[in-house]
Order: sequence, then C-alpha cells, then structure tokens
Amino acid sequence: MTLESRDVRKAFGGVVALDGATVSFRPGRVNALIGPNGSGKTTFFNCVTGMIRADSGRITYAGQDITRKAPHAIARAGVGRTFQLCRVFPRMSALDNVLAAVRPAGLAGGLRGARRRGEVDRARGWLTRLGIEHLADVEARNMSWGQQKLLELAGVLMGEPDTVLLDEPAGGVNPALLDRIGTLVRELNAEGRTFVIVEHNMDLVMAISDHIVVFDRGRPIAEGPPSLIRTDERVLGAYLGV
Ligand code: ADP
Repeated sequence: MTLESRDVRKAFGGVVALDGATVSFRPGRVNALIGPNGSGKTTFFNCVTGMIRADSGRITYAGQDITRKAPHAIARAGVGRTFQLCRVFPRMSALDNVLAAVRPAGLAGGLRGARRRGEVDRARGWLTRLGIEHLADVEARNMSWGQQKLLELAGVLMGEPDTVLLDEPAGGVNPALLDRIGTLVRELNAEGRTFVIVEHNMDLVMAISDHIVVFDRGRPIAEGPPSLIRTDERVLGAYLGV
C-alpha cells in the first residue's frame, strides 16, 4: 500500500505549489511531511486525495493510479484524511458526526440506514477508542477544539482506511490531548495503519515518526529517520535560512 507521487506539479496562477514532487511513503510507517509554510504540503494532500487535480505527474496508491480519481474513489481505495481546519458538522452530535462520516450523501436517509446496519456500535467503539465516548450526545460545536479533532479522526477511522493523512493534528490542541493524539497514532499504526502527518510541532513529529520527508518550494529536499533529519543541514537551511 505504498503511496507514491512522481513528478507532480501544481501551480495556482503564477505560484508553483508543487514543483515536480517525487515522493514515496512506505506502508506500515508513521511518516511525517514537514517543511516551511508555503512549501506545498497541503497542496500535496489535496492532490493525493483528489480534492485538486495535479497539472502533471502521477500519483499511485498500492500500485493503482489515483491521479485523476474522485475523492470518494480515493477514500474507497483506502486513503482517509483529516483537515487542518477540522471538518465536523457543528450542530450534530458527536455520534451522528461519526455516522455521517461514512454516509456523506443524503444525510438523513443515510443516518437511518447507518442505524439499521448496526453501525452505531462501531461508531461508539471509535468514540470510546478516542476517549470521547462521554461526548456522544454533545453537539460538536460544544466540544473543545482538540475534542473536535479527535471527533474528525473518529469519522475518518469509520471508513477503515489503511492509510491516514493527518493535516496538523496538533494545531491548537492543548498539551494533554496532544499526548493522547501521539499515543493514538502509534497504537493505530501498530495495528497496521500507515500514517502521513503534516505537522509543525517538531517535538511531536520527532517523537512519533519512523520516517520524515522534508518539503521546500514544492518538492522534497531531504528524507530519513528523525535522528538524521534533526541535524540535516538542508533542513536547517530551509527552516532557518542558514
Ligand atoms: P503548506 O501546506 O506547505 O503551507 P500550501 O500547499 O498550502 O503549503 O501552499 C503552497 C503554495 O501554494 C503557497 O504559496 C500558497 O500560497 C499557494 N496556494 C495553495 N493553495 C492555493 C490556492 N487555492 N490558490 C492560490 N494559491 C494557493
């Protein structure tokens, strides 16, 4: 289930967001994708998940070409994703949010269908796993930011993805929840899920990653285990301008 991109290019007008990005994320790992602001990390996630179309290049997952596939097809192929700005339905309960995550089309009928199929137990299972089962009946808008991020992740996990892309899971989250997110990622990885994580919190990245890819100006400039990346001069240069 390797996720690979080959020579992917994406420009917005004159701004080149991805400049021939060739990168490979091997299965079974917690991979991190880091780099300065504007280096193309989110655009890469958007291309991989079919939310925007690359101008050129190729993206494959488990050997299958997903370059021009629609988001739902890519999700069905096994790639799940969370968003930097966290996508939940604010006026729906946590439980309904998790159920809705796997029935995006026709919400009302979808929810009834989900209940018939006994998916409520599975949804509750994920809420429990993520430590927010006590909030099952609470509307998402009344949950803390960190809890909402866990809720969004619960919804993604309902889709049983083999590979999970997390866009800034630590952003705006308090330190206690941060620990839980780190532990969860390691646990979910030990059960066989692959992760690709875009994250600015370097302590978290260094603590939980097996492999780190560093982007600068739309393409990878370095990759390796945390011990190597921590001291890589190109990385320090890209971040610190030295
Ligand atoms: P990162 O996630 O590493 O911060 P992004 O992928 O968000 O980087 O952005 C890469 C570059 O592409 C930036 O210069 C950004 O301003 C630009 N960009 C991203 N999305 C758009 C868009 N929808 N329209 C115009 N420019 C964009």
